[in-house]
Amino acid sequence: MRFVADLYRHPAMREVALDPFPSSYSERIRDLGRVCLKNQVMTSILAALLDGPAALRRLLIRNVVTEGAAVDDLMADDELLDGFVREKVHGLWHASGSCRMGAAEDPAAVVDAEGRVHGVAGLRVVDASVMPRITRANTNIPTIMIAEKISDAMLASA
Ligand SMILES: Cc1cc2nc3c(=O)[nH]c(=O)nc-3n(C[C@H](O)[C@H](O)[C@H](O)COP(=O)(O)OP(=O)(O)OC[C@H]3O[C@@H](n4cnc5c(N)ncnc54)[C@H](O)[C@@H]3O)c2cc1C
Repeated sequence: MRFVADLYRHPAMREVALDPFPSSYSERIRDLGRVCLKNQVMTSILAALLDGPAALRRLLIRNVVTEGAAVDDLMADDELLDGFVREKVHGLWHASGSCRMGAAEDPAAVVDAEGRVHGVAGLRVVDASVMPRITRANTNIPTIMIAEKISDAMLASA
């Protein structure tokens, strides 16, 4: 949290990211994510207002979007920050690494660098599960990249 908050304080970031706020996943956000006419209307109105004048956007972010403290409040109060992290950190649907890639002698590795399952002939695993460690970014494009790379290797060796 502190590292990212510092990044947003950098002048280069300030030029392109106007109003960072701490986000979290809550019952309210889950309800708002349901596909229905009511949510479509509500989110369309909110989106239009958020694209409006900066003062209005700030007011909405502070009072409607953010369900709690602002970034500056969290950075200024260790207890508040601790509470936020404990309460709000959650998984983000990027399961990976359950069948990790690694050397044959690594007891935690399941596949080699081309997705071949160690000790099993003719079987490959090529998906997000082969990522050797938990990624620091979203997994969709890296999964596609893994597939492209290994399919190229398979075609080259065919
Ligand atoms: C809600 C959500 C939001 C996400 N948002 C993002 C995002 O914004 N950006 C991003 O980069 N990543 C995002 N991800 C992560 C990304 O979607 C996954 O990392 C990626 O799709 C993983 O690819 P995969 O091929 O490993 O698995 P999957 O895409 O899950 O593919 C597995 C496939 O196997 C099929 N399957 C399962 N069992 C069988 C069976 N027995 N027989 C035959 N087929 C079977 C399934 O139907 C599925 O098609 C999100 C994931 C979720 C769940």
